[in-house]
Amino acid sequence: MPIQQLTEDVISKIAAGEVVERPASVVKELIENALDAGAENIRIEISGGGRKLIQVSDDGTGIPADEIALAIARHATSKLRSADDLFDIRTLGFRGEALASITAVSRTTILTRHRDEEMGVQVKIEGGRSGPLKPAGAPAGTVISVENLFFNVPARLKFLKTDTTEKRQISLVVMRYALAYPTVRFIFLQDGREQFRTTGSGELADVVVRVFGLDVFKRMIEVRAEEKLRGTTESIAVRGFVSEADYNRKDRSRIYLFVNGRAIQDNSLIYAVTQAYHRLLPRGQYPYAVVMVDVPPRFVDVNVHPTKAEVRFQDANIVFSVVQRAVRSAVVNPHQLHQAHRDQQSTGGWSVPYTPHDASDSQMEFQLPDYDDAVSDTDKRHRQQRQTDDDKFPPEKPRTLPPLRVIGQVGAAYIVAEGPAGMYLIDQHIAHQRVLVDYFLDSVADETTLDTLTPEACTIQVDAEQRDLIDEYSVLLSMLGLTLELFGTDTYRVQSVPALARNQEPAEFVLKWLTAVDAGAEDVQQEILHHLARIVSVKSGQVLSQHEMQEMVRTLERCDTPLRGPFGQPTLLHMSADYLQHEFKRNKPASDSAS
Ligand code: ADP
Ligand code: MG
Repeated sequence: MPIQQLTEDVISKIAAGEVVERPASVVKELIENALDAGAENIRIEISGGGRKLIQVSDDGTGIPADEIALAIARHATSKLRSADDLFDIRTLGFRGEALASITAVSRTTILTRHRDEEMGVQVKIEGGRSGPLKPAGAPAGTVISVENLFFNVPARLKFLKTDTTEKRQISLVVMRYALAYPTVRFIFLQDGREQFRTTGSGELADVVVRVFGLDVFKRMIEVRAEEKLRGTTESIAVRGFVSEADYNRKDRSRIYLFVNGRAIQDNSLIYAVTQAYHRLLPRGQYPYAVVMVDVPPRFVDVNVHPTKAEVRFQDANIVFSVVQRAVRSAVVNPHQLHQAHRDQQSTGGWSVPYTPHDASDSQMEFQLPDYDDAVSDTDKRHRQQRQTDDDKFPPEKPRTLPPLRVIGQVGAAYIVAEGPAGMYLIDQHIAHQRVLVDYFLDSVADETTLDTLTPEACTIQVDAEQRDLIDEYSVLLSMLGLTLELFGTDTYRVQSVPALARNQEPAEFVLKWLTAVDAGAEDVQQEILHHLARIVSVKSGQVLSQHEMQEMVRTLERCDTPLRGPFGQPTLLHMSADYLQHEFKRNKPASDSAS
């Protein structure tokens, strides 16, 4: 292809692609504009995961009628005049790119009335082409409605994830801004239903409760610290809430970081937060955290990335250590709000090495789904006998492993078994997870419901994300035995739990399960099944009877993928007869003669 100047249309779509990656980016830009316009109330409404509609209404200054054309032009902004201003940015927007980009790839309607004007105006822009300005009655402020996002960029449309994923991204954006702006009242509606609302009280704690739910908040400690920058009158301030050292989760997704009121994704700052828990959190566990860092504006460059999600600090090390010290001192020495709660563990000492709080699980009884027990009570079963049993149990599934004979248990964690091809060492925790997942899949496919228990007067408090999950997967959850009844905006009554969880405290079990599920995963149903299996499966450290081991192994022998647990871990080690022989040097002529 010969070199050609790109057309304006192509250029604007390329530029739009940088700012508007997905529906959540639109929501982000529109919220930022509303905040920059001084809004006190911001209402966000989306439908169809943001593909169909994203509407953001605010009661900010509004846009003067004669500036609308400029507002949607590329590189037009009211927030920046000279390049020098770039080093002292106090607004969220400054690049003048958002409206140009959004209107280039959607059908956008802007309805706005500037505070000082009598009459509002409305304009529709489709794929970058603006219609006429029409006078319209409107309260002071701005309503921007973005419909059919990416209608003219099919390539981008193709790359969007499921509605659920996009919705999740959007709620994350809304929550981040709600956290950053506690004085602003946010209302977020999704497909006509209210998802999230803040009061605008100005108290960060109020928003944290809305975002994480009261139960999590109760386990959080306040962070508040300020350090002078050497040789200046300026300082770095850190404030927010972080979870207690023994209240954590297995990913970093609940660590929210803000620099000068801007939500950022900065791995080194996330690391600073987790480092603060050094030796307090077990490997692979992360806290819940909302951490606001305020630095002098000239100290930070936000103009690193088109979406402004990354920042560059003049001295990243200082910021890192101030954050780490602030969080550390809060965690180690929590002069926190929840006095009553702290008292329960105040003598524990925060420097005590962590003991996993799953330890109590090892007392759990071994639980297998109730299979037909007709052939199961023979502890002295032998291989010959097994062949005939094969037809009976479970009749419909083909074998995937050779028949194994259970010999015993090692270290209360592994089952030793013998098979035609040698010796097998089976991880009881992983193997049980595999067995359970297959069992769940079968019962979901057959549309049968697992056995349930009815807990007494049990309610749980969930965050917006968990509520989405419950809404969206209620059918699946109830097939698995979990039925929940809405009992307030963020509270559910637990009506039944799977009987498999009989040895766990119901509310704790349900929250543990829902929290573990990654609602943004490719396959959420799978997440739900896998984590249920993980939580109710037999743990290492649990002594199993011969009968229980045989049951497990016999079921494993007919699982579709018997060699891997649901999270990909191996279920067993196989030591073939050849391997054993080789390891014992039996194949060497010298030792052969000795045998
Ligand atoms: P930027 O925010 O970087 O300036 P945008 O493209 O997002 O660029 O917006 C362009 C301009 O349109 C803004 O500078 C502002 O003057 C005006 N504007 C956009 N949205 C709003 C709003 N909700 N209320 C008032 N003014 C707005
Ligand atoms: Mg903007």
